[in-house]
Amino acid sequence: ATFASLGLIEPLCAACDSLGFKAPSDIQRECIPYGIQGRDIIGLAQTGSGKTAAFALPILQALWDEPSGLFACVLAPTRELAYQIADQFLALGSGIGVRVATIVGGMDTMSQQVALAKKPHIIVATPGRLQDHLENTKGFSLRTLKYLVMDEADRLLDLDFGPVIDKILKVLPREQRHTYLFSATMTTKVAKLQRASLRDPVKLEI
Ligand code: AMP
Repeated sequence: ATFASLGLIEPLCAACDSLGFKAPSDIQRECIPYGIQGRDIIGLAQTGSGKTAAFALPILQALWDEPSGLFACVLAPTRELAYQIADQFLALGSGIGVRVATIVGGMDTMSQQVALAKKPHIIVATPGRLQDHLENTKGFSLRTLKYLVMDEADRLLDLDFGPVIDKILKVLPREQRHTYLFSATMTTKVAKLQRASLRDPVKLEI
């Protein structure tokens, strides 16, 4: 398969090419067509499988089709992972002018408020700091969100982000929201989060 044969538009195929991605990885081959169809997705995949591009590419394609305010939010368990995900969105979305903000704990809150005021399309966040901004940053909300991604959901829950994620889920739009959940393992807690947040998901395991 090629990226184009999965249904991806030319600027995204070109970005994959310039990053040296010769062909889609297994998880990308499974995930991208369902993502483009607008399905909710559970992906059981390890780091190194190419899972980041597997969820970033369909989101970027939908953003290209219909840009509208803050478009997608990715929740990640750690600052390091959040920066890696943001870098991939920027690299893959360079041809379509994507704006990305990284909103993580342990970093300056004021400069994050400035970044949010610049109207990013994509936010990559650790849950605690995102919740802080939802409570304290004027004019910031997730009202227009079309995509939510929970990456490394097992680690998110191991780090006790469950209650904060529940709070965030409560303020998200339900209709016209697509949700992706990625996890290395399917635990009882992950299954519970899945039931609380996804609608009729396809389950992809590689
Ligand atoms: P991830 O599993 O998302 O953390 O990705 C692991 C690494 O693989 C990242 O450095 C990606 O840039 C790279 N990568 C993702 N997809 C592909 C692909 N189709 N071909 C080659 N490398 C890839």
